[in-house]
Amino acid sequence: MKYHIITFGCQMNKSDSERIASYLEKKGYKEAEEKDANLIIINACSVRKSATDRIHGKVKKIKEKPTTVLTGCILKRDKAKFSKLFDYILQSNDLAKWPLFGGKETDFFKIPPKRKGVSAFIPIMTGCDNFCTYCVVPYTKGREVSRPAKEIIEEAEKAVSNGYKEIWLLGQNVNSYNGEMTFPDLLRKINKIKGDFWIRFVSSHPKDFSDDLIRAMSSCKKVVKYLNLPLQSGDDEILKKMNRPYTSEDYKNLIERIRKAMPDIELSTDIIVGFPEETEENFRNTAELFREIKFDMAYISCYSPRPQTVAYKMKETVSDCEKKRREKILTEILKENNAEKTKKYKGKEVKVLVFEKNKKGELQGKTAKNKTVLFSGPSKLIGRFVKVKITQTSPWSLKGEIKQK
Ligand code: SF4
Repeated sequence: MKYHIITFGCQMNKSDSERIASYLEKKGYKEAEEKDANLIIINACSVRKSATDRIHGKVKKIKEKPTTVLTGCILKRDKAKFSKLFDYILQSNDLAKWPLFGGKETDFFKIPPKRKGVSAFIPIMTGCDNFCTYCVVPYTKGREVSRPAKEIIEEAEKAVSNGYKEIWLLGQNVNSYNGEMTFPDLLRKINKIKGDFWIRFVSSHPKDFSDDLIRAMSSCKKVVKYLNLPLQSGDDEILKKMNRPYTSEDYKNLIERIRKAMPDIELSTDIIVGFPEETEENFRNTAELFREIKFDMAYISCYSPRPQTVAYKMKETVSDCEKKRREKILTEILKENNAEKTKKYKGKEVKVLVFEKNKKGELQGKTAKNKTVLFSGPSKLIGRFVKVKITQTSPWSLKGEIKQK
């Protein structure tokens, strides 16, 4: 009884896979390489079309005949499409009902995760009520449900006592967390746990980003001063079509308030280019705002229609080639900004959490502000904090020398 899990998509899926692994091991399964496994689970993502295409690619490569399970973020329509390729298509949070196992009802979040890697991913809620017109999540994950705060705090305490240096609080829209306390109060509680660790959270929605959250972020020392705040578009017409209930002005004001409270904060954002009917002028508004805010990082994606969403019925008006052009323009702006902004790190000493050794044999880690740092050192430092003096900067990463082991 050997299992292998293949995970696509966001941290939430990675976190679910850790719970699935733990459940399987309790049932007597052992983790194995893909080629040796007799149970292969693909934890899928339907957010982008490219991610669904990868499921096809992956399952076709499975040659022997193990039992195959498809789980994760799957649209009804894709379920039908994949039903011939997999033995089972199942809900990840309904593990106990999987016909493979039987047994009594299990609360998915009560399963202790089998953590992998350096960070502890802790889901604080599932689902989403926002129905952005391009997004499948409300259809695949259902409505928002918050986990009880006590359970989250206990999981965080355990992760810290097990030596994890980075806690990620996960949800599709963490700002609207509502499990016996507000999200800012949850941050305050987790910040009080004793130990040297960072707190990160994702994803945020600008409409729910309250002044109390700004206060909590700035007063809680362990909460990193780095924030991903998805803008999606800098044009009011497109924001409306995306069902994002804020204007470019609202977003700008919010960023001003955040920067006023935390002048040294670094910001990243998510942008979709080529949404249906996005004209050159609409795009120019996005590019202008993008230039003005000077983000430290951005995740820019070309719009791809997803079945079941409202935008799926809208006529696509931007060619793939034009989407790529728009993506490139924003990437260039980001690169220019970053080449300048990262120079301030030269000669500075930064605290780095070490993640891995890369293919070149260098250690790779991140600062609290999510900057990638490369340096030489022994593998035993993986999972630990070290001090690194920065000797070289580039738009996407920093290089340095270790100061203290
Ligand atoms: S808030 Fe995020 S998860 Fe929810 S619908 Fe919008 S993009 Fe999707």
